[in-house]
Amino acid sequence: MKGAENEFEEPPGEEVEEPPPRRTTLWPDVSDQQWNDWRWQLTHRLNTIDDFARVIRLTPEEVAGLLAPGHFRVDVTPHFASLMDPNDPNCPIRRQVVPTIRELVPFEAEMADSLAEDAHSPVPGLVHRYPDRVLMLVTTQCASYCRFCTRSRVVGDSKAQFSRTNYDQQLDYIAHTPQVRDVLLSGGDPLMLSPRVLEGLLSRLRAIPHVEVIRIGTRVPVFLPMRINPELMAMLRQFHPLWMNIHFNHPKEITPEVRQACGMLADAGIPLGSQTVLLAGINDCPNVIKTLVQELVRIRVRPYYIYQCDLVHGAGHFRTPVGKGIEIIEALRGHTSGFCVPTYVIDAPGGGGKIPIMPQYLISQSESRVVVRNFEGFISSYVQPTDYRLHDPATCAYCQAARPEPGQEGVEGLLAGHTMAIAPEGFDQVHQRLTRIAWQPVWPVPVATKEVV
Ligand SMILES: *Cc1c(COP(=O)(O)O)cnc(C)c1O
Repeated sequence: MKGAENEFEEPPGEEVEEPPPRRTTLWPDVSDQQWNDWRWQLTHRLNTIDDFARVIRLTPEEVAGLLAPGHFRVDVTPHFASLMDPNDPNCPIRRQVVPTIRELVPFEAEMADSLAEDAHSPVPGLVHRYPDRVLMLVTTQCASYCRFCTRSRVVGDSKAQFSRTNYDQQLDYIAHTPQVRDVLLSGGDPLMLSPRVLEGLLSRLRAIPHVEVIRIGTRVPVFLPMRINPELMAMLRQFHPLWMNIHFNHPKEITPEVRQACGMLADAGIPLGSQTVLLAGINDCPNVIKTLVQELVRIRVRPYYIYQCDLVHGAGHFRTPVGKGIEIIEALRGHTSGFCVPTYVIDAPGGGGKIPIMPQYLISQSESRVVVRNFEGFISSYVQPTDYRLHDPATCAYCQAARPEPGQEGVEGLLAGHTMAIAPEGFDQVHQRLTRIAWQPVWPVPVATKEVV
């Protein structure tokens, strides 16, 4: 080390000076009142080459992406744009919302609706995939548009909005489907709805007796934190238990404004979770994610899911190998607080739903012991009980009351002894083939002579 001769070394005793917020240099004439007004933010979103050229040094790839005809909608709030690094084309904020020509390149496995949501929609905009909960798409609008949007087939089109009739049909389906005890509002971003419309939807949902929990999936606290204000909190807190999942991808998103927004939401009694999409070149690093989750719990947001990037058009260049997600969980579990560790999931193509993926911690087992390893590689054995009395569902009130939906019991049904096997369609026909040829009940039958005989 060259010590004091190093020109980058700070003079002793002096604080590293923070660069001035880009807001004041880029929007010098905008008053605090305007900047903190969510309507001002929405009407001043960046979407043209000229808008972006004022804020960042555009690369030829970005210019081509912005000029490409028919690209997925571009719109970025000044708040989010002010976090961009003007000189770094790999800036994680910039990469999430500024298109490049790469998003137009199709990849082999891509699908328009990789999660088969449309096939699971009993009425437009309502996805009923799981036994006890539904996803309700209530708007096509967002505060800013993520380039890797999993619903780019429906999101962003200002002319294709959900109508009053759509809402009526969605609510009617829920009201007539008593197994739905959890309704997840998404879109688009539900917090983009006018407060009056959102309040109307929430109160109609709350009026359905079997709807126990309502959830909102949103990125507004990140893109438009000024939208989280006391009036909105007063409205939302009427509808408890109300949960919220916020889409965070990078520690740089957590600004003082975002901290304040999450504080207000938490103070309104809303349990907050985060959902993160694993993105190549943006957050595909165990230490970036570790910083993110630790920063999140400081603002009372519990990391909930990390998603493997979906097989959606436009997202090909954001995909990582699945091993990256496993590596990230390996770096979190045990190494940091348990409530910092989200569940890594692949939302299975074809509508299989979310499937958790994690490192292997169970190494082996025998009748009497299981062998497990911890995050440090310490391997130990756990001695199993020898006097365990089997749980008896016949005398358990909860087992007697349970009414699993046929066909959705899965492996749980095998364990409970309700079914013996789960077979793919056509399995039985295929495996009856031996009965179609002259079968000799003598074993072994030489295969070569079987047809001749
Ligand atoms: C993610 C999702 C849910 C909610 O799943 P949880 O694991 O309960 O958070 C419900 N319905 C659909 C269609 C979903 O994609």
